[in-house]
Amino acid sequence: MKNLVTVLAIVLALAWSCSSENGFEKAYNSINSNDLATYVSALASDEFMGRAPFTKGEEITINYLADQLKAIGYEPAFNGSYFQEVPLVEIVSKMDKPVVIKAQKGRFTFSSPENIAITSPWVTDKIVISESEMVFAGFGITAPEYSWNDFDGLDVEGKTIVVLVNDPGLYTENGDLFKGREMTYYGRWTYKFEEAARRGAKGILIVHETEGAGYSYDIPRNSCMTPNLFMQTENGNSDKCMFSGWIEAEAAKSLFSNLGYDIDKLRMEACDPGFTGFDMESAITLTINNNYKLNTSTNVAGVLRGTARPDEVVIYSGHWDHFGIGEKQDGDSIYNGAVDNGTTMAMIFEIGEAFKQLSSVPDRSVMLFFPTAEEQGLLGSKYYTENPAFDINKTIANINNDLVLPIGRMRDVMITGYGQSELDDLIGEAALKQDRYLFPDPNAHTGMYFRSDHFSFALKGIPSLYARGNCDSREFGKEWAAEMEADYIANKYHKAADNYYPEIWDFSGIVEDAQLAFEIGYKLVTSDIYPKWKEGSEFKNIKK
Ligand SMILES: [Zn+2]
Repeated sequence: MKNLVTVLAIVLALAWSCSSENGFEKAYNSINSNDLATYVSALASDEFMGRAPFTKGEEITINYLADQLKAIGYEPAFNGSYFQEVPLVEIVSKMDKPVVIKAQKGRFTFSSPENIAITSPWVTDKIVISESEMVFAGFGITAPEYSWNDFDGLDVEGKTIVVLVNDPGLYTENGDLFKGREMTYYGRWTYKFEEAARRGAKGILIVHETEGAGYSYDIPRNSCMTPNLFMQTENGNSDKCMFSGWIEAEAAKSLFSNLGYDIDKLRMEACDPGFTGFDMESAITLTINNNYKLNTSTNVAGVLRGTARPDEVVIYSGHWDHFGIGEKQDGDSIYNGAVDNGTTMAMIFEIGEAFKQLSSVPDRSVMLFFPTAEEQGLLGSKYYTENPAFDINKTIANINNDLVLPIGRMRDVMITGYGQSELDDLIGEAALKQDRYLFPDPNAHTGMYFRSDHFSFALKGIPSLYARGNCDSREFGKEWAAEMEADYIANKYHKAADNYYPEIWDFSGIVEDAQLAFEIGYKLVTSDIYPKWKEGSEFKNIKK
């Protein structure tokens, strides 16, 4: 034991001397609460008007971000500009009349948005679906690595598919089936919409179920009534399904019982690898009026150019956008988004400044990236990965964050998407130095890994990390931390009350999280490490 301790001490001392040579410790310790507070108090101030895309708030925000990047010595990332224009289209879909489904034994009239929540991504005024044949396609998943194909033996071309939310692992709790309770990408509605389009389906409806979705039916219900943002494409999104949406649980229950199925039993049957979907012998009719507006938003990024291999890059990201000015809540109508995502943007600037403190510029480049339209479906980051400033093959890693709580020093480092890539091992080493432990996101079944910007990078095969202290307060323990998080989610998340409260905020935990993220990035930009996806990750087979 004593020998082991000695060896460890030597190893640590060596590691220490290597890093301090380059002023690493000084840079690491330069990250501090006061600076973080300065950034947050600006970004979450009323002057920024809630940072909504296409508004005056966008202009103020992106100019502030560019000015700060310049001030800390980062050069423009996009051909001499800090800005990348992101062409978007805003669509409001309105159902003309109730949706009619003609089934074998009767006719269903479902009203929107109470029973069914449908939108169309097509950039066109009117979408008319007349008696489209319906097919039940299980979970709507094609996953070769799990030898799973819900479309085997089904003809869905030009038809409307009805599928279940999440994946079979959740419902069977069988750890060998997909990832057990943890949601894989195949469980997300975005995947199901994409796969339906790849299969040539005309429309897709997901049967809502609260646990599997990770949220109540209120979420799709509300979002089908508000404007939805999409990327502007040459084909006006005609490569996507003509309509997509959700059917509320009770409505689905009545429809399937008419066909002779109990939806809950059917869900369990669909978890069997031998299950095949079926023709529902039903037809759906609906009309959607689309009101659309073309508009351009902006990604912002700055670069610290590497010396030896400047074309290789590590990207730190945190979305700048939030919800702007909306419905008045307790006398406040500005949705300031202090935690969503002010704290992360502050961290990124502090990390960026730390890199500048090093006595020599690292071999690889560092990019600080503030994507737009995250709240609307990760659109800014998606656009960036389609139009990158650095070759995707030479993008070493993405380190993203979102919703970092200002509740003091935490013992845990919660990783959303734990076990996906070797970045976990790097953060593990850095966490140990801070006397912290890694902790898989306890709510992995809600698919948070697929709900912030790192996911856009993951889809391109770039290892991506989403990690922060969240569950175990050094001072007050786990229960207290859970209460703080629950309070944030219930009372502030996506609400006007997501403000900066200088009198109660404690930045000390965010300092440690920023230091962790700095250390991982430091290791990557001063070495030739190419972190890889781990065995069993659904991103392992994506060709960069
Ligand atoms: Zn966010």
